[in-house]
Amino acid sequence: MLFKNFKEGVLEVLFPKVCTVCGLKLTSNENFVCNLCLNEKFEEASREGKTASSDIMLPEGISLQHALWNFDKGGHLQDLLHQLKYQRLIGVGEDLGRQLGKSLLANPFFTERIKNNKVGLLPVPLHKKKRRMRGYNQAFHIAKGVAEVINLPVIEQEAVIRNKNTSTQTGFSLEKRRKNISGAFQVQKYEAIENSVCIIIDDVFTTGATTFELASELKEAGCKEIMIATVAQA
Ligand SMILES: [Zn+2]
Repeated sequence: MLFKNFKEGVLEVLFPKVCTVCGLKLTSNENFVCNLCLNEKFEEASREGKTASSDIMLPEGISLQHALWNFDKGGHLQDLLHQLKYQRLIGVGEDLGRQLGKSLLANPFFTERIKNNKVGLLPVPLHKKKRRMRGYNQAFHIAKGVAEVINLPVIEQEAVIRNKNTSTQTGFSLEKRRKNISGAFQVQKYEAIENSVCIIIDDVFTTGATTFELASELKEAGCKEIMIATVAQA
């Protein structure tokens, strides 16, 4: 124990942990992104009294679309989300998830809907080939952070799978995105979904093509109500 503390102390002096965004030294209660960056660096998405923080019309069955921040093309947030996706910075996902969880708790639409219901967090599933290649699903780690703050269960990763390995949809028209993603998801364990409120968790909400497709599959499987919560919206 003593040795462990000593070793950690030495490592701490030699390689102090720094914030992924601003590079300043982190305090012991900060993980990967410092509190100052989490609270002030990014632009909060406007949600005042609305059930959608973007301008997109929500399909029937989806009661809330909640984004934490507006996407900043070429900015710090894009950097951070890119690191989470491609550089295995799993801890960043959990930091962002905790921040997303706090903002969900401050949204009265959300807190009202989760009362007296069976609720589960559902990270958007990755195709197993992609998950194997990347080693993890970034949405799952965001969901873990959310779960820590709101104390809700994360639905097991095998309950809903993605059986279509879609290529990146960047640059596609909305119609093409929809066609590309159609039929991509499949519910495998109905008991995890039936009669429950599912909160779909993802990193970025763009056109809704992916999350809406997942939502329609969940609805067909007997899900009572669906909400979408993301770190950013484009
Ligand atoms: Zn920072």
